[in-house]
Amino acid sequence: MKRTTCEECGGKIINKKVDYMLLGQSLGKFDAQVCTTCGEVCYEEEVSKEMTRIAKEKGLWGLSATTKVGQTGDSLDVRLSKRIVDFVGIKKGTEVTIQPVNKHKIEITF
Ligand SMILES: [Zn+2]
Repeated sequence: MKRTTCEECGGKIINKKVDYMLLGQSLGKFDAQVCTTCGEVCYEEEVSKEMTRIAKEKGLWGLSATTKVGQTGDSLDVRLSKRIVDFVGIKKGTEVTIQPVNKHKIEITF
């Protein structure tokens, strides 16, 4: 069923093509319902499936991984999965900056 008003704010919904970005890369333009008031974007199930398919094709799907913190000497280490390493293109010896974003997040920049 097509929505005409936004569930979040009651604003008007319009249909338009939206450029969908995942991990900084465009997956293409997709049909979406966009609220003209709050900007909430919704996709039909078919469209979501297509976006998932393209993301998998581009190797952008399922990159997040859970891991356990290990220990080497006095420092702790976190292993990076091969998929993440391949995606970002770092290798042994790459110099990185590790910086806490908040109490629950650490950012690695290179
Ligand atoms: Zn809205």
